[in-house]
Amino acid sequence: MTHLQQQLLAVKHELPEGVRLVAVSKFHPVEALMEAYEVGQRIFGESRVQELQQKQPVMPNDVEWHLIGHLQANKVKYIAPYITMIHSVDSRKLLQEIDRQGERNSRVIDCLLQLHVAQEETKFGFSFEECRAFLEEGDWKELSHIRICGLMCMATFTKDTQQIRQEFATAHRFFKEVKAQYFAKEDSFKECSWGMSDDYPIAITEGSTLVRVGSKIFGERVY
Ligand SMILES: *Cc1c(COP(=O)(O)O)cnc(C)c1O
Repeated sequence: MTHLQQQLLAVKHELPEGVRLVAVSKFHPVEALMEAYEVGQRIFGESRVQELQQKQPVMPNDVEWHLIGHLQANKVKYIAPYITMIHSVDSRKLLQEIDRQGERNSRVIDCLLQLHVAQEETKFGFSFEECRAFLEEGDWKELSHIRICGLMCMATFTKDTQQIRQEFATAHRFFKEVKAQYFAKEDSFKECSWGMSDDYPIAITEGSTLVRVGSKIFGERVY
């Protein structure tokens, strides 16, 4: 077994039942993705459309591709034929475009609403208030080619594990609030996408159902 394969299986071994691993393979070559595939990994996360477009045709058909990075509405059309889940929905306009492209491809595309919980200014996503207001307005209920399956967030980049824990816990409370208020009857609204290489052990104690782990499996990225 390769080092990459050992790392991947070690991470998977730590995940409790009900938590799935998104192997974040951005900036790594297809050969590395295939090593992961060979030990059973099927969910891969990429952050850039162009890179996804290059890898998708050469990887096996049963790979589930998750888009985890910021997505521009004008690029949705490229990935709409095959994308399994888009974690980074942060505007009504983007959700509407995903719905439009879902319809053109006769698909229903699974989406997560990205929350801004970190302190950094640069991270994308809805604030809690914006997200509440968006759900309350209710236009999303008319969109039949998207399915809102849960929430995604990134914690602040810090060594303060208490702060990270608090951010994930707040996101989880918000998930439960929104679930009760808008999705009580929707079994598909169940995903909490939080936790990366440095903080996924915290995330899984704070409700995560999808951890997005990259460098811990694939090594450091060379940009
Ligand atoms: C790159 C990235 C990850 C993975 O980060 P690592 O620290 O390498 O595990 C997870 N989520 C998002 C949104 C990313 O952009």
